[in-house]
Amino acid sequence: MKGQKVDLIIHNAAIHCLDDANSTEQAMAILDGRIVEVGPERQILNKYRSDETIDAQGKEVYPGLTDAHGHMLMYAKQLLGVDLRGVRSAQEMIHRCEQYKATHPNLKMLVGRGWDQSLWAGQQMPTNTELNQLFPNIPVCLYRIDGHAALINDFLIKKSKLLEKLPTLKGGEVDGGLLIDNAMNLVQPFIPDYPKKDYLKALLQVQDELLQYGITGVHEAGIDFEHIAWFQELVASERLKLNVYAMLMDAPENRSFAAKNGPYHFKNLTIRSFKCFADGALGSRGALLKAPYHDHPESRGLLLTEVERMQNLAQFCLKHNYQMNTHSIGDSANALILNLYASIYKQKPDHRFRIEHAQVVDPIDFQKFADFAVFPSVQPTHAVSDSDWAEARLGKKRMKGAYAYKTLLQQFGMLALGTDFPVEQTNPFLTIQAAVHHSTAEALTLDEVLKGMTIWAAFAAFQEKELGSIEKGKQATFVIFENPVTADQGQVQNYAWRTFINGKCVFKLEAL
Ligand SMILES: [Zn+2]
Repeated sequence: MKGQKVDLIIHNAAIHCLDDANSTEQAMAILDGRIVEVGPERQILNKYRSDETIDAQGKEVYPGLTDAHGHMLMYAKQLLGVDLRGVRSAQEMIHRCEQYKATHPNLKMLVGRGWDQSLWAGQQMPTNTELNQLFPNIPVCLYRIDGHAALINDFLIKKSKLLEKLPTLKGGEVDGGLLIDNAMNLVQPFIPDYPKKDYLKALLQVQDELLQYGITGVHEAGIDFEHIAWFQELVASERLKLNVYAMLMDAPENRSFAAKNGPYHFKNLTIRSFKCFADGALGSRGALLKAPYHDHPESRGLLLTEVERMQNLAQFCLKHNYQMNTHSIGDSANALILNLYASIYKQKPDHRFRIEHAQVVDPIDFQKFADFAVFPSVQPTHAVSDSDWAEARLGKKRMKGAYAYKTLLQQFGMLALGTDFPVEQTNPFLTIQAAVHHSTAEALTLDEVLKGMTIWAAFAAFQEKELGSIEKGKQATFVIFENPVTADQGQVQNYAWRTFINGKCVFKLEAL
């Protein structure tokens, strides 16, 4: 038998390598989960032999996509509770809660997520009057789509003794049953949670959804200490196949974990970063702005974490070789974090500390992304979801520095792209549409978007030697798409035909 034996050969493909030369090849050989060689059809077929050979029928192959900012756990939780996405009125929201109650006897609590008052006539924030009538004896908590506001019932207000705690509340607001940002932390401990086994099952459901789009990696944007063990368990039993790059929330146990382990690698689970919140979200007017809100002149938004604590976290991360990824939406929050990262840059130029969202940036601050090597991590579908009210919040002038993806890219030279699911849908083709076509955002090219989901996302997680492109020696993690990937307006439906992680097929499109 001629030829070197490998585990798998993919041929008759259009392989977009996304390497430095941006090359396209026809075939590749894979052994032990790694790419042995990528090259022309004949070259690969002559040189290698394999029991498994896939004729890709001319389909396009890309490195596996990464969602550089997603929330698998939150999405899992959403799947377990009341899905409030797309409700068109407060009444419809209540109606869905009633339906859930009818189909779930012996409810101990009701948790929902996904409402968005900006889709309702009048755009009024909801009140809890009807919830109190329907649910007088169990805690109810309904999160807004962005997770930065929640509507709770009076039972939960009383049970959590919320009103007594208000004088010490920082970085949050309470208005009747409506809680903004840090106020939600005060009631959290009084809402029973779902059993772990339900979460693990739901996490695998999330994984299935991602794999069908060719998403092979997620930067999980903020987990608690107990969740580390959940991910470890799923990875150890090989049920979780995705590459998960988890960011830890800033809590004492998580700091101990980082101090003890340093950058942590366990098969496809990597933990070497912290998530931190500088401010809230624009929709609920929690984003911290330099000047007052255009549609609410009394408010400039909320600082969610004290500056000293963020400085302390940055130094902690530097010391333990962790990365710091800070949620910053408003121009004031962005300026604050850029300046904070400046001091890190002086100590370690290739720190790759990230700003998550970077949604509104004062034009005088853009240069700092370049000067201090700050990695922007953005979610283009937000520009679409926010477009009905962003200008109302900001006024025309500030829109210049909002959703400025191209400028951010030009400054740093790379962008990490994500969706922030479940705030947005997981479908990466919506990201392509939003980034290339949406009118309120600065447009990116298709090539830039794909890099943002692959090689640049890998850089954003220090994984560029392993992932993000199809090159000799790298992990054989890639997707063969059913249809060509284009930026044609309206192309929002495309699926993986096959998805591979580490040389193993993890998703196969069934014949329709
Ligand atoms: Zn997020």
